[in-house]
Amino acid sequence: MTAPAACPPPATGSVLFRAGCPHCRSSSELPAGELRLVIGASARTTFYTFTCPECGEAVRKPAGERIVELLTGGGVRTMRLQG
Ligand SMILES: [Zn+2]
Repeated sequence: MTAPAACPPPATGSVLFRAGCPHCRSSSELPAGELRLVIGASARTTFYTFTCPECGEAVRKPAGERIVELLTGGGVRTMRLQG
């Protein structure tokens, strides 16, 4: 299991997150705006999602506490599920 790693912000100030795609097995660096974080009531319903720039497939991956912190700290849009 791979966790997204935050890269140091480039000169533009935007943070890039490295995320692997299970469909085409490519690894892409995505800006925060390309990722969505969904926080549910339990760890099972907490995940992040993005569209793979290589194959166009929607990717959904579980987000642990550390990943949630990483993504929210990097400005990724967060959606909280009710209940
Ligand atoms: Zn892909």
